[in-house]
Order: sequence, then structure tokens, then C-alpha cells
Amino acid sequence: MRLVRMIANLGYGSRKDVAWMFREGRITDPDGEVLYADDKVEHAQIRVDGEPLDPPAGLVLMMHKPLGFTCSRKDQGRVVYDLLPPRYRARTPALSTVGRLDRDTSGLLLFTDDGALLHKIISPRAQITKVYEATLAQDMRGDEQVLFASGTLMLESETTPLLPAKLDVLAPRCARLSITEGRYHQVRRMFAAAGNHVETLQRTTIGGLQLDGLKAGAWRQLNAGDVQRLL
Ligand code: URA
Repeated sequence: MRLVRMIANLGYGSRKDVAWMFREGRITDPDGEVLYADDKVEHAQIRVDGEPLDPPAGLVLMMHKPLGFTCSRKDQGRVVYDLLPPRYRARTPALSTVGRLDRDTSGLLLFTDDGALLHKIISPRAQITKVYEATLAQDMRGDEQVLFASGTLMLESETTPLLPAKLDVLAPRCARLSITEGRYHQVRRMFAAAGNHVETLQRTTIGGLQLDGLKAGAWRQLNAGDVQRLL
């Protein structure tokens, strides 16, 4: 029954459903030979209805999150999980976003079912750099680079100052901001603290990983090299 549990945990159905799938001959090897629930077979050798089995636990994905989607599981509106195969929502261990992007922010979003990796990436101690590109409602006033780099900027209702952040001015109303924390609405609140308003926001980079031309709404699985570039 090892295979039944493993396939059920990938979201294909309950253990009872998967046991039926075996009985119906829907689970095969790459040559179409029917597999049995007590067979000993490698993950990569299993097909369900002729298709390779979804990746095993330890999955890490990157998505280009489009505007208008939330990172919540429960939102009534459009959620980023809707952009993944429906089975991915039923996997055990569960697949979660690594941190969140606002509904009105697009860009690089990670998912994983590996809790230790998730905490490694979001831990403030890891100081992984996240890069955002923002367009602003007004021209920058000129003191933003120094203010954001100071390590003394205190956001409203917070009790500790922000760590130093790097601002590259791309145009009077367009900036690239590199931060190592992930506080609530951090980028929007930083520009608000500088008397401005963020009109569009996109995350382009996390650690050494970039969007790399991935289209809005598209996603791909990360390999071990990608994960290493991330940390
Ligand atoms: N900062 C924000 O203000 N919003 C995001 O979605 C991410 C960082």
C-alpha cells in the first residue's frame, strides 16, 4: 500500500480513490504495463492515465504572479493556487507560498511544500535580498536613497526600524528597491514614508533567482541549482 499512500498524498484522490485507480489499471509503467499497489517501483517510472506522476514532496515552484490574484487559500476572489494544476491544492504536505505578494503586486512568487526551506527563505536572519521595481505617483524628492539606506526608517505602527535598503533611481518616478526583510506592505509603506505613493509594483528577484522572461501567470518547477541560487 506504500504506492497508494504516496499517490494519494500527491492529491490524486483519497487512498480509496487511488486503490480503485490501481484496480482499473490506470496506474502503469512507461511501457503501459499495469502496476499493482504493492509493486516496488521508482517515482519516475509511474504513469497515471499515461501521464508522468506529479513531482514528489520537496517541490519548489516559481510563478510570475499576475495582478489581481491574492496569495491566500481562502479568498473568495482569484487566488494564485488557481493557476496551478488543481491536484496541487490537495497535496500532503501542503504547498504554500513563500511569503506573500499583495493582490496589486505582480512578479516572482515562490511555492514550496518544504517547511524548513520556507523558513530558511523568509527568516529575517537569512537576509535574502528581494528586488522590486516601482512606479510612483510623484517625482522622488531626492532624499529617498539616504533615508532607505539609513537603517533608522521607522514605519508607522512598528517598533523597530527597517534594515538598510538600497534604492536605484531609474527615472524620476521609477525606482528599483532591494530589501532583505518582508514586512507587511513594506515597499508601499516605505515610499509612503517618503511622501510618495506606489502606483505599480513588481518583484523581479529573490536571492539569485530572477523572473527570467516567465510570462504573467506562468510557473515552473525549480531544480536543485535554482534553489542553491536562491539561498
Ligand atoms: N511590499 C509591498 O508593499 N507589497 C508587496 O506585495 C511586497 C512588498
